[in-house]
Amino acid sequence: MNVVSPAQYVVTPPSVTTLPVQGSEKLFPVHRIYCIGRNYAAHAIEMGHDPNREPPFFFLKMPDQVVQPGKDFPYPAKSSDVHHEIELVVAIKKGGKNIPLDKALEHVYGYGVGLDMTRRDLQGEAKKLGRPWEIGKAFEASAPCTALVPAEKIGHPDKGAVWLKVNDKTAQEGDLNQMIWKVPEMISYLSEYFELQPGDLIMSGTPAGVGPVKKGDKLHGHVDGVGDLKLTVS
Ligand code: MN
Repeated sequence: MNVVSPAQYVVTPPSVTTLPVQGSEKLFPVHRIYCIGRNYAAHAIEMGHDPNREPPFFFLKMPDQVVQPGKDFPYPAKSSDVHHEIELVVAIKKGGKNIPLDKALEHVYGYGVGLDMTRRDLQGEAKKLGRPWEIGKAFEASAPCTALVPAEKIGHPDKGAVWLKVNDKTAQEGDLNQMIWKVPEMISYLSEYFELQPGDLIMSGTPAGVGPVKKGDKLHGHVDGVGDLKLTVS
């Protein structure tokens, strides 16, 4: 390994983003954040798309855009229509290319509950113009997440409620069993296009009921068997 002395860097190197592991002092280092689009039929319909099983598609957020458990979500600049999307987060422990479906779950470290926060107005403009989505999806603090729970403790959840309450009122509601592309399928498919790495996160799509947040809102997201994400929009 090529050891670099700090003095050799021309600017300060970025630090590694980590997520806590529930019930442990250990940390999960975040590499990339892949997000799958329109993975619940009812959400595809609410966004005006065909819910049929067309090939999955992905976009990315950046690791330093994770919001640590317990921290606020700061309302971002340049948008007046920021939406919540509650999602099961899959944490990868073992990388690979062309991962077969029946081996895909062996690559999973564990799971978390995340929010794919979205500047919907900017995403909508980008869609209309055929432009990339980063401006709507990959902004600072766009990826709040809970501590991760190891699969060796909870298994691999493939059914159970997913919901989000805004100020104690239910906004989003679905079930993991409504995913169009299941977790092993998204891992296998992604690994044909990208080399997955330990530390990658996959945000697995959101059920119906997405909507705007405003400063002061209290969000409470939940995935059965995985956990609860609570934050305030500040
Ligand atoms: Mn999403």
